[in-house]
Amino acid sequence: MEKKFKDLLSKIKKYNPKADFAKIKKAFGFAAKAHEEQKRLSGDPLISHPLAVADVLASWKLDTDSIVAGLLHDVVEDGGKTTSQVEKNFGERIAVLVDGVTKIGDIKLRGRKEEEFVENLRRMIVVMAHDLRVVLIKLADRYHNMQTLSFLSKEKQVRIARETLEIYAPLAERLGMGEMKGILEDLSFPYCYPEEYKWAREYSEPYYYQAEEYIHKAIGEIKKSLEKEGIKAEVHGRAKHLYSLWQKLLRAEIDKDITKVYDLMAARLITDSVGNCYATLGIVHRLWKPVPAKGISDFIAQPKPNGYRSIHTRVFGVEGKIMEIQIRTQAMHEQAENGIASHWYYTEQKKRGRTDRELSSGVFAPSEKLSWVRQLVAWQGQIVDSREFLEALKFDALHHRIFVFSPKGDVFDLPQDATPVDFAYAVHGELGDKTIGAKVDGRMVSLDEKLKSGQMVEILTDKRRKGPSSDWLSFVVTTNAKRRIRRDLKKRTK
Ligand code: MN
Repeated sequence: MEKKFKDLLSKIKKYNPKADFAKIKKAFGFAAKAHEEQKRLSGDPLISHPLAVADVLASWKLDTDSIVAGLLHDVVEDGGKTTSQVEKNFGERIAVLVDGVTKIGDIKLRGRKEEEFVENLRRMIVVMAHDLRVVLIKLADRYHNMQTLSFLSKEKQVRIARETLEIYAPLAERLGMGEMKGILEDLSFPYCYPEEYKWAREYSEPYYYQAEEYIHKAIGEIKKSLEKEGIKAEVHGRAKHLYSLWQKLLRAEIDKDITKVYDLMAARLITDSVGNCYATLGIVHRLWKPVPAKGISDFIAQPKPNGYRSIHTRVFGVEGKIMEIQIRTQAMHEQAENGIASHWYYTEQKKRGRTDRELSSGVFAPSEKLSWVRQLVAWQGQIVDSREFLEALKFDALHHRIFVFSPKGDVFDLPQDATPVDFAYAVHGELGDKTIGAKVDGRMVSLDEKLKSGQMVEILTDKRRKGPSSDWLSFVVTTNAKRRIRRDLKKRTK
C-alpha cells in the first residue's frame, strides 16, 4: 500500500506540483488507521479502495481537496469516524465533501421504497449543485467498485450494475465525461445483459480486428501528409465501446448489421490549435473524399450542449472503406474524456497566468454546461409530488438526448422522442402556446413527429391562437411542455 501511495504522490506532482502534499499524507495516515484490519471481499485491505479512488481522481487532475476527500470518503461510513472528527483534522471544506459523499449513499433503485429513492436523488442534486466534486468522488468510487464487482453475490452484482447503467453512466455523460460513461457501461453490460453481451462480443470481434487494420493503414497515410505540411498532431485509433456498439446495432436502420456501423474504429487527430484543426481537416479531405450529406459534423463551430467539441468527418478512406476521422485540440480532448473534471485543472492553470491561447483555447464555460443541474435544483423546489420529480429526473435529465437546431442555429438539447411541440416549449412558453404547425429541415411535418438529432426545426405560429390543444398531452415527452399545457388547460376550464 505504501508503494501505491508513493505512486499516487508522484502522479499528482506531475500535474500539480503545488499540491498540499502534507495534507494528502495526513489523510492517507488517517484513513489507513480508520480502516486498519478491515478487508474487502476480494481479500485486499480496505484502504486499497480509497487509495484507488484517489488515484482515479488524480488521473482526472483534480485538486488537493478532492484527493484528500477521496482518501477519506469511507471513514465515516465504514471507518467509525465522525464528520466532526474529519472537520477537526482537515477543515470544514473537506468535511463537507466527505459528508456529501456519505449522504448521497448508495442510490438503490430496487428493494427500497420509491420515496426513499427520490429523497436520495434529491439530496444528491442539492449536494451536486453546491459542489460537483462530490459527484466526481462518487463516480470514482463507483468505477472502482464496478472493477471489483466479481467478488460480490450474484444478486448484488446485478443490482449494482443496473444502478450504474441507469444512474451513474448517464450522469457521467451529462457531466461531459464521455470516456467514463463508456467504461461504466461496458463494466455493467455483462452483468445486466449476459446473453446479449456474449452475442455482441462474439459477433463483433472479427469486425473490430478488420477495422483496426484499415485504421492503422489510414493513420500511416495521415501522419505522412501532416508531416509534409508541417502540422504537429498526435494520431491514434480509438475503438467504439462494446455497449455503445450494441445499442447502435439495435437501431432500426442498422438492424443488427455491423457492416452499417462506420465508427467501429475511428482515427483521432489531436493538434495544438483550432486553426490547425481546420487545416488538418483540409489535409484529410485532400487524401480522401468525404461521404456526401452526412460526412462532416463541426462540433467546434457548434458544440454539443454537454460541451463536446471536435470535428468529425466520414470519408471514403483506405481502399474506399468508409471510416471516421475525429479532429480536436488537446484541451478539447481532455474535456471530451474527463468533462467537468477537466474544469478544475484549467482554472488552476489559468490562475497561474497561462492564457487561453496557451491552453489551446479549450476552456469551456462551466456555468453553461451545468444549466441542467441548476434546472433540476429549481424543479426540486417547485415539484412537491415525488413521483413527478422522479419522472422529471428520469425522463429529462438521464434519458438519452437528441440535439436539434432552431432556424437561427441555436442548439437545443431534448430527450429522445421529443416532438416539435416539445421543441417549441423549450424555446419559449409563448411559442409553444401559439404553435399551429412545424417544418423539419424545410419539410412540413405533423406536430407529433419524433425529432432526430441534427434536424432543424421551424415552428409556425398563429398569434390569434388561444392556447395549447389537450391532444398534445398524448405525445409530448418533456416535463416542461406537459406542465405548461396542463396549466393552461386548467386555467381555461375554470
Ligand atoms: Mn467507497
